Amino acid sequence: MAKKEFKAESKRLLEMMINSIYTQREIFLRELISNASDAIDKIYYKALADESLVFNKEDYYIKVTADKANRTLTISDTGIGMTQEELENNLGTIAKSGSLAFKKENEAKDGHNIIGQFGVGFYAAFMVADDVIVISKALGSDEAFKWESKGADGYTIEPVEKDSVGTEVILKIKENTEEDQYDEYLEEYRLKSIIKKYSDFIRFPIKMDVKEQ
Ligand code: ADP
Ligand code: MG
Repeated sequence: MAKKEFKAESKRLLEMMINSIYTQREIFLRELISNASDAIDKIYYKALADESLVFNKEDYYIKVTADKANRTLTISDTGIGMTQEELENNLGTIAKSGSLAFKKENEAKDGHNIIGQFGVGFYAAFMVADDVIVISKALGSDEAFKWESKGADGYTIEPVEKDSVGTEVILKIKENTEEDQYDEYLEEYRLKSIIKKYSDFIRFPIKMDVKEQ
């Protein structure tokens, strides 16, 4: 399948994320959990307006799964999901609110400590991952799609099997280098402390599963 290029602005932001040397890399998890929570909210509000849709509280949660052997960290949700078109539009283009605010601020200040203060959005995933896969099935659709990107040179989208509505964001965590440690993002205690620090107010359950080797 043909590889598509990111829009110019997205590409610039993505490059900043990939090359980021900030100590606040950990906020990638806040961004992905906040997107998962937003996606569940969307079903919740839809159910309020649509009697044919029932919102069973126990069906809606976010799950963080670390798999050390495969070096993957997966953030999954039972939210509203994305169609092929939405994957394309929402992840292939610079995200509106958060990312733009970040970019503007970044021009004004010296760049230190800024990432942590703003909603920088989905691309924050590239601070800790060199491959990002999003598998999603939209509410009301019976097809699912997989979006994948290894960074600034673009992304691919293809059909995939997924049983339930919702989204899985799979991060292939970077290898440690002499200067930079990434292993910690597969450690339960570390993930728990990041979640406590930034996502304590999230109103849906955040489950965790850590597969040791
Ligand atoms: P923002 O959250 O500020 O809109 P993001 O970069 O975090 O910006 O996300 C971009 C868009 O991608 C979201 O607005 C949403 O439409 C879509 N999106 C991201 N993650 C998910 C998800 N887990 N479920 C459904 N849609 C998502
Ligand atoms: Mg967001």
